Amino acid sequence: MDQSDIGSDLESVLLSEEQLSTRLAEMAAQIDADYAGEDLLLVGVLKGAVMVMADLARQLHHPVEMDWMAVSSYGSGTKSSGVVRILKDLDADLTGRNVLIVEDIVDSGLTLSWLLANLRSRGPKSVEVAAMLRKPEANKVEIDVRYVGFDIPNEFVIGYGLDYAEKYRNLPFVGTLAPHVYAE
Ligand code: 5GP
Ligand code: MG
Ligand code: MG
Repeated sequence: MDQSDIGSDLESVLLSEEQLSTRLAEMAAQIDADYAGEDLLLVGVLKGAVMVMADLARQLHHPVEMDWMAVSSYGSGTKSSGVVRILKDLDADLTGRNVLIVEDIVDSGLTLSWLLANLRSRGPKSVEVAAMLRKPEANKVEIDVRYVGFDIPNEFVIGYGLDYAEKYRNLPFVGTLAPHVYAE
């Protein structure tokens, strides 16, 4: 899927494919350095983190393991409540492991803060977070996101894993939606 396939539903491109890949390479180099000689398990949070996980993992030199979790956050359509349900749990036992949670976006941080507490209760050696995008709201919660791709404005974004009503996840860039899409 590309810009021509979304047509007038797209308002603007916020981060191009090239910007995303350049930044991911920098993040990967830092992760390689930080975990040199250490075991590392990447935990991708479905479904939004699929693109970040695939691209970040391929830019790493470190021989990581990858596992997946799916969670649903109760709340109204646009705001998460912090009450989270596990839809798919990890296959891996986290005991003594270095865990790096890979996220698409941190907005209120409520989902992530629940996830951090949950994974930390499983006896890992360490738990850190890599997020491609972070919104200003995230500053209100006490979460240390060790690796951040981009700090973005408080706008609803789509693409590169992020959906609007389950669509547009397969855009290779991050963009904003035209207002007429919400109005439909
Ligand atoms: P939080 O608990 O941090 O508020 O919510 C995180 C989740 O909300 C993300 O994993 C994502 O699924 C969704 N989300 C937050 N902001 C956006 C956005 O701008 N666009 C899209 N498509 N999803 C978002
Ligand atoms: Mg997510
Ligand atoms: Mg979504």
